[in-house]
Amino acid sequence: MIIHEYQGKELLREMGVPIPGGKVAQTPEEAGKIAGELGTKVAVKAQVHVGGRGKAGGIKLAGSAEEAVAKAKEIIGMDIKGLTVHKVLVEEAIDIETELYLGITLDRARGTHVIMFSTEGGVDIEEVAEKTPEKIVKVAVDPRRGLLDHHIRKVCYAFDMSKENRKALGVFVKTLYKLYMAKDCSIAEINPLVVTKDGRMLAADAKVNFDGNALYRHPELEAMAEISEEDPLEVKAKEMGLAYVRLDGEVGIIGNGAGLVMGTLDEVNRVGGKPANFLDVGGGASAKVVTNSLSLVLSDPNVKGVLFNIFGGITRGDEVAKGIVEGTKVLNIDKPLVIRLSGTNEEEGRKILSDAGIETAATMEEAAEKIVALTRN
Ligand code: GDP
Ligand code: MN
Repeated sequence: MIIHEYQGKELLREMGVPIPGGKVAQTPEEAGKIAGELGTKVAVKAQVHVGGRGKAGGIKLAGSAEEAVAKAKEIIGMDIKGLTVHKVLVEEAIDIETELYLGITLDRARGTHVIMFSTEGGVDIEEVAEKTPEKIVKVAVDPRRGLLDHHIRKVCYAFDMSKENRKALGVFVKTLYKLYMAKDCSIAEINPLVVTKDGRMLAADAKVNFDGNALYRHPELEAMAEISEEDPLEVKAKEMGLAYVRLDGEVGIIGNGAGLVMGTLDEVNRVGGKPANFLDVGGGASAKVVTNSLSLVLSDPNVKGVLFNIFGGITRGDEVAKGIVEGTKVLNIDKPLVIRLSGTNEEEGRKILSDAGIETAATMEEAAEKIVALTRN
């Protein structure tokens, strides 16, 4: 689960982490009012669930309340990487001396938490990681022992810094780790962690994401979820009980079983196509589930055709085939479909499909090649 910067900062503030004063606004007028109350130069910042807002023009400085209204007008309604901005955070602008980076996430390969710190903070930490990895220090924290003093020392003494900054950084590491653990975060990141011209250390940005599997332990976080910010198709899928993830290609993919669907994505890629989504219908695809899945996948305008990959185990191939035929009757489908059906009762199933005029394939490779050929134009 992803939350906005202003919500992440609220959590940081609760933990006692210094952040710039400010509030979130939904209209330019509100933004102006907040700027007026702050009485300082402000930063007006787009609140969307993606990074790189600065580069996209979603962060603007304003010297007065009137200017804040004007900047908020520019930013609200703006599109950043496909997401519409509905809210802006209006906060005291800070006089930046240096921009640092501090983040904590999970290192799956090592089975530990990892603290990452760099003196090259700001917009593009990925670029720093790629081009100058020596400028980022990574300290693994064994979850069984937790954060120890030597971890903090390793972070604080990794680069040349003043004594005051080391001390302040140590507190940030400790508190951010506390937040990361307390809320079951998948990532807790401050970029930039700013040292101001007057020597204070402040969190100027906050990226706090939670592990969805642990949300049941945090009813207090539910209120932070913003359905309107999520992909509408993914929301609809959730309501229908389907596991759906939108991707950016043009071949719609439906399969029974997560592993099978992933394999299908790879196969489509391998033969030169680009998957438009991941959709696992689970076991026993009934006509209703098939209809729901097809209508969902086809409501993505990028989809040019759909590949169904069904492996009949307990699920019988002829039953699934009937489901698909019924499903396609209900929906008026004007895009190519290819069904790969194998396993229990595959021949009966394929006959039902071809009798209904639906393209079938015996192997995943054949199916992938067929749908990619049919959707290429
Ligand atoms: P992101 O681009 O989505 O990561 O948004 P950030 O909140 O990290 O802002 C990007 C950049 O904008 C920062 O690295 C700063 O250089 C700048 N910035 C953000 N807030 C302020 C502010 O209050 N004052 C100043 N001077 N710059 C800011
Ligand atoms: Mn940032």
